[in-house]
Amino acid sequence: MTQPCTYHWHLEKTPTGRIQCAECQTHITEIPSFVDIGHDVFIRPTMHSKTCALREEGPGGYLVLHFTAEGRGCEGTVPTCKACGGDRAWDVVGEGPTLTLSPSILCGATIPDHAGGFHGFIQNGKWVQA
Ligand SMILES: [Zn+2]
Ligand SMILES: [Zn+2]
Ligand SMILES: [Zn+2]
Repeated sequence: MTQPCTYHWHLEKTPTGRIQCAECQTHITEIPSFVDIGHDVFIRPTMHSKTCALREEGPGGYLVLHFTAEGRGCEGTVPTCKACGGDRAWDVVGEGPTLTLSPSILCGATIPDHAGGFHGFIQNGKWVQA
C-alpha cells in the first residue's frame, strides 16, 4: 500500500474512531463535499446522468458512506432525481439541515462483518437508525 493517494477513494474508521483516508490518512473533514450527518454516517451529493433534463436542479442523489464493525468504509448511492434515477429514486424534501429522504435506506452490501445490516433514515439532515 505505497501507492500515492489522490482521490481518497478508500475511507476507514480507525480503532480510535478517527475517520480518514486509508492510504494517506487525510481526515474526512478535509475531504471536500462530505457532510457529517451523525452516527458516523456521511453523505455527499452525486451528479445527474449527463443527459438528464434536470441536471442543473441540485444533486441527482446522495452517496451515503458508513462503516462496518471493522471500520471499513461502505458506500451506496441513493438517487433522488425522478428523471434520471427512475422508479428507484427516493423522495426528497429540503436540503442541508432540512434534507429528508424517504423511504428508509438499507445497505445491500454483503460484507462479512456487516451482518445485522445498516438501515436507517435521513431526516432533517441527520441519520436516524431504523
Ligand atoms: Zn487519501
Ligand atoms: Zn454498508
Ligand atoms: Zn436527473
